[in-house]
Amino acid sequence: MAKGRRIVVIGGSAAGPKAAARAKRLDQNAEVTIIQKAPELSMASCGYPYFVGGVFNERKQLLSTPYGEVRDPDFFLQTKGITARTETEVTAIDRERRLVRLRDLRSGQEEELPYDRLVIATGATARQPPIPGIELEGITTLQSMRDADLLRKIRDDKQITRAVVVGGGLIGIETCEALQLSGIDITVVEMLPQILMFLDWEMAKVLENHVRSKAANVLTDIGVAAFIGREGKLTAVKLSNGTELPCQLAVLAIGVTPNIGLASAAGLKIGVTGGIEVNEFLQTSDPDIYAVGDCIELTHRITGAKTRAPFGDLANLQGRVAGENIVLGNGAIFPGTIHTGICKVFDFAAGSTGLSESKAREAGYDDLVTVVNASLDKPEFMGAKLLISKMVAERQTGRILGVQCVGPGDVGKQIATAAMAILGKLTVQDLVNADLPYAPPFSLPIDHLIATAHLLENKLKGRLNGISSPEVKKRLERKADSWILDVRTAGEFEAMRIGIGETLIPLGELRDRLDELPADKDREIICYCKISLRGYEAQRLLEAHGWNNVRVLEGGVMAWPFGREK
Ligand SMILES: Cc1cc2nc3c(=O)[nH]c(=O)nc-3n(C[C@H](O)[C@H](O)[C@H](O)COP(=O)(O)OP(=O)(O)OC[C@H]3O[C@@H](n4cnc5c(N)ncnc54)[C@H](O)[C@@H]3O)c2cc1C
Repeated sequence: MAKGRRIVVIGGSAAGPKAAARAKRLDQNAEVTIIQKAPELSMASCGYPYFVGGVFNERKQLLSTPYGEVRDPDFFLQTKGITARTETEVTAIDRERRLVRLRDLRSGQEEELPYDRLVIATGATARQPPIPGIELEGITTLQSMRDADLLRKIRDDKQITRAVVVGGGLIGIETCEALQLSGIDITVVEMLPQILMFLDWEMAKVLENHVRSKAANVLTDIGVAAFIGREGKLTAVKLSNGTELPCQLAVLAIGVTPNIGLASAAGLKIGVTGGIEVNEFLQTSDPDIYAVGDCIELTHRITGAKTRAPFGDLANLQGRVAGENIVLGNGAIFPGTIHTGICKVFDFAAGSTGLSESKAREAGYDDLVTVVNASLDKPEFMGAKLLISKMVAERQTGRILGVQCVGPGDVGKQIATAAMAILGKLTVQDLVNADLPYAPPFSLPIDHLIATAHLLENKLKGRLNGISSPEVKKRLERKADSWILDVRTAGEFEAMRIGIGETLIPLGELRDRLDELPADKDREIICYCKISLRGYEAQRLLEAHGWNNVRVLEGGVMAWPFGREK
């Protein structure tokens, strides 16, 4: 075969190998080399928390193809025709001479490797804040295979009894679950007012309560002031209010910083968010150099703003696009992200796509309509599980801007469907009669997502007069004169109740007991049930009898994020 184009890929985890494999598939003549600093290749980093938590035990599974072959340099050479060099670091990019400088981390030997096209896929590094004591033994991150090995050993050794996870984002919460499953007493410390910032506050609180119910402690609105140790080993985490949490392990999970050192030293443009700037072909400011994965900056497909989205699915998709463009010329496009993501939170999942209400407001959308829907994912007789969703739309156009979903039900399906709706720029009206699959093992006749759109349609048309749980809480705090009505059955009320001064009148008795309601027809009445379907029926009934300020607590008791009496 004729000597082909020399392609060098820096980084051999997710985006890099994908770009390399795609390039080689499309151009068998290409000489493709992956340079990888870590000892492993193609690590399934998203699986680290489950290896640490003992969901599976064979380390090899993190590094293998679905048919069980470990993706090592031999595999890359034999199966893919790609040279992969591990424990080798690229120390510089010489754009003028079109070569990279390498250092073999085992021998220290240095060499130069020429390229015709270069792909930078150097990923990101876990942030390490300059907190006093951060160098103590017992403080780690969960970003690399090394970290996963260390935490797995901690699980297996069973010596550590208490740990603190610093940061309540996706990796922090997954790490919390993994360590809790290992029998370690866990506290998550989050500086912001909520965990999982991709969700709106009231959605995140539902999950926070769930994490607490699993015997893991969560502290929000508080930072870490120092790590305290004895003889070089961590003994406690000191919080900004002076409290000390004794522990032998702290895992830092406060986000990642893109690895842009090589790119910026080579004079490539860095974007406003700190990631490597690329165009829609994933080409950097040097036309011979492409960049993919966690190290780049992307465009948000709704707002058009620059953003970063360190997600494994996007890294792979970008690798595929860049791999094609480097061998066939710029034909494939990577349009950006709508920040679709999901994570497991003990028995619940948390997912989001598009903009949350707070992110939409930050982006300048101020005429929004939102709704919270709590309902089941399938019939009771098929083992129904709860889903709580929040849909955010533009009031004027009805365009759906975002959907968040939490709960023990099938969150993934909700978010995947919603992501397609958002990418297709669908409106609430489009979703109202969407044709989704139905059979009892899989969903209700009206799928939860469609039911959420129905609620939003009712709200847009002025039929449903919803009120969010934080708004109700504010009314309670300022001792507003609202009259609160729970329309569930007496049995349900006995088993679980919010306890905010509500009166119980079951929906079936409401018609006969209207005289028990406030005589003042202008007084605000807030009604609810378990999920607020009966609450909505109560609203319509009361309005028909002349009350003209009736609100429905969205999501009912199930989505109430604050403390309950019972
Ligand atoms: C614990 C955890 C859980 C996650 N869960 C999810 C999830 O559920 N869903 C999801 O979508 N995403 C998840 N992610 C994120 C996902 O893993 C990343 O987005 C993805 O790995 C990014 O791929 P990448 O190739 O850009 O970078 P990386 O995976 O970071 O790989 C970059 C590689 O480049 C190498 N490198 C860096 N500098 C050099 C150099 N100078 N020379 C040579 N090599 C170099 C490094 O050794 C590294 O292996 C998770 C991440 C972690 C850590």
